[in-house]
Amino acid sequence: MERELQATQTTDKPQAEQGQRTRTTVRVVRIPEAITVANFAEVLKVSPIDLMKQLMRAGIMANINQAVDFDTAAALAPLFGYKVAPLEKKAKKSTVVEEAEEDASVLEGRSPVVTILGHVDHGKTTLLDNIRKTRVVEREAGGITQHIGAYQAEYNNRIVTFLDTPGHEAFTAMRARGAEVTDIAILVVAADDGIMPQTVEAIDHAKAAKVPIVVAINKIDRPNADLDRVKRQLSENNLLIEEWGGDVIAVPVSAVTGEGVDDLLENILVVSEISDFKANPSRSARGVVLEAKLDKSRGPVATLLVKNGTLNVGDILVVGSITGRIKALVDSAGKRIRSAGPSTPVEVLGLNEPPAAGDTFRVARNEREARTAAELAQRQQESRRQVSLEDIMSRIRTGETKELNLVLKADVQGSIEAIREGILQLSTDETQVRIIHAASGSITESDVFLALASEGIVIGFNTTIQQSARQVADAENVEVRFYSIIYQLLDDVQSTIKGMAAPMVREVVDGHATVRAVFSRGRTSKIAGIYVTDGRVVRNSSARLARKGSVIFDGSISSLRHFKDDVRELATGYEGGVMLNGFNDFQEEDTLEFHRQEQVS
Ligand code: GDP
Repeated sequence: MERELQATQTTDKPQAEQGQRTRTTVRVVRIPEAITVANFAEVLKVSPIDLMKQLMRAGIMANINQAVDFDTAAALAPLFGYKVAPLEKKAKKSTVVEEAEEDASVLEGRSPVVTILGHVDHGKTTLLDNIRKTRVVEREAGGITQHIGAYQAEYNNRIVTFLDTPGHEAFTAMRARGAEVTDIAILVVAADDGIMPQTVEAIDHAKAAKVPIVVAINKIDRPNADLDRVKRQLSENNLLIEEWGGDVIAVPVSAVTGEGVDDLLENILVVSEISDFKANPSRSARGVVLEAKLDKSRGPVATLLVKNGTLNVGDILVVGSITGRIKALVDSAGKRIRSAGPSTPVEVLGLNEPPAAGDTFRVARNEREARTAAELAQRQQESRRQVSLEDIMSRIRTGETKELNLVLKADVQGSIEAIREGILQLSTDETQVRIIHAASGSITESDVFLALASEGIVIGFNTTIQQSARQVADAENVEVRFYSIIYQLLDDVQSTIKGMAAPMVREVVDGHATVRAVFSRGRTSKIAGIYVTDGRVVRNSSARLARKGSVIFDGSISSLRHFKDDVRELATGYEGGVMLNGFNDFQEEDTLEFHRQEQVS
């Protein structure tokens, strides 16, 4: 803690009353799972009285020698200009308690939670359905198996929990919210089609999550199934199967005939044994929301996955800022149950509102504690984390992280290889640069979520970002950087891993326009007649020109006109003329993204 405090010391005196918004520096301090008011005040360099006042405002009466838990401390710290990080690195990502904290003697084995990933149409849903139909235990005659976001299958008297939302998008979106629910990923690859772009994406997403992968080579009943080709392609993607001397299990299956499905389940259980998943069923429950909805007759209904502890009817739940006493629990076979242990998906009635998928939940001791926790969660939401290069740099400087994770999208495969090569040489003994996913094409929502989940940034090389991805990046504070020159990209990465202060600027995108006509001006110059589709165009900004998804030019505006007038700005829905410094080759249908650099205070 000492070192961290020194590294983050600044001269301005934090005062609670100043509030968070007016602060220009946010310092990070490391604290344990629980900390006394006196010690926490010392860490924050405020008087214990100020701290107690803030606690009281949140409804917590604590004297100077009483301890507050990590979540409470995390919610309070921003009020004093601080962020907190756990002393133990493991507990950082999610508020779900890590099993490592538990005394080993109270831990018991728990069943694995599995997600199915793979390319579209390779059979993810069919496989889920096949297992559901053949393996789900009907615990009660006439019990209706319902879709609640997950189900439990039984094989050889052992249970496997399957998450019902296949695909890496949902998987990574959950992780981006801090919810690590999956223990094992099943990668479905159709034997007649082989590895496709989304298969590669799924592999990278599973690897970034550090979950073991079991491959299901599907559709082996098809006449054109080619097992060897799939095995070869897997090895080309760094998944060397057992048969070929590696440690990846690959099982040939047919989701339609059911052939090989037993073998697949058997192998999932083997991987589960090796990984030795454990939990403490006798503590109060913690876990994650898988789905939630407002049911007309039953009110808010949420499917929760219990990660640790046991959830009981009558427990008081806290899910972010939502609370409620559990009125009923229904398992995935449609049966009412009184309690649900680790790895069990369960439908819960009794919350006052439906929470969001990916939210974490815990059980409070009483109504009052629940209200306080909910109130604090509300405030915590207001002080969201950011993932920017500057942020990562400061974490590298303070020793909080030793990794720089990049999601790279580029115009063509050749650029990816060149960048990968350059980056490979940048890693130092202290800091690793990892490209967790690289592909050609524009930046998608799932790229942004992957960066968020891995606390990394997205790099676009001569490519564009999809509108929806831009929205997620803005909302979640994920940095997306664009480059068109490799050495500039490598330079920035290098300064980051050295923890050097790069200029504190960030890119702001003002708006987009489409080229509708091209006019000549003089002998050589061209003017693009544009229509502003969203945002605005500012005269002293730059424009990124994309044609069919690839960026072909990025440079400053030399002239901006509305009819015959020079203007400083053009708003959405307006037409105008634009000229760019050093570019004349406009074509109709080109798109322009207007951006500028802004100083970050
Ligand atoms: P998803 O997009 O990965 O969920 O793929 P689906 O489960 O929807 O399957 C896509 C198509 O492939 C459907 O028409 C399935 O019937 C078919 N399919 C899935 N698994 C198999 C299989 O093992 N054998 C054959 N012949 N067809 C399959």
